[in-house]
Amino acid sequence: MGMRAPSPHQDLSVKLDRLFEAAKRWTSVWGYSRLMRELNIEFSPPNQSALGRCDLTRKTVTLNGVLLLDPNEALLFETLCHELAHVVTVMRYGNRVEEHGPEWSECMEKAGFKARAKIPKSLIQFSG
Ligand SMILES: [Zn+2]
Repeated sequence: MGMRAPSPHQDLSVKLDRLFEAAKRWTSVWGYSRLMRELNIEFSPPNQSALGRCDLTRKTVTLNGVLLLDPNEALLFETLCHELAHVVTVMRYGNRVEEHGPEWSECMEKAGFKARAKIPKSLIQFSG
C-alpha cells in the first residue's frame, strides 16, 4: 500500500477555496467586498493562450488550467488578482481609464503584487 495522491477533484476544490479567500481579502482592501456576492472563478483548458480573462457582465474570471499545476501556484494567485483588479477598476472608473494604467496598478500594489501587465511566458511551467 503506497501513499495515495489527493484526487485532482479534491485538489481543485481546495485551490478554489483558497482563491476565493484571497479574493475576499483583496476586494476588502479595495473597498469592493460586494463583488464577492457575484464572483465566479472558472478554468479554461490549459492550451489557451491567455493566462486569464474577465467577463465584466458575468463577474467571472477565467483562469488558464495550466495555472493549476503546483509550480504555477504563485502565478495562479497573481493572475486572479490581475483580473479582479480589472473588474474593480472598471466598476470604479468605467472604461475611461487605461487597461493597465495607474488605477489598475494601484489595485495590484494594494493587494501586495508588483503591477506587471504581462507575466513572462518563461515563468510558466507546463508540466507539474
Ligand atoms: Zn490585464
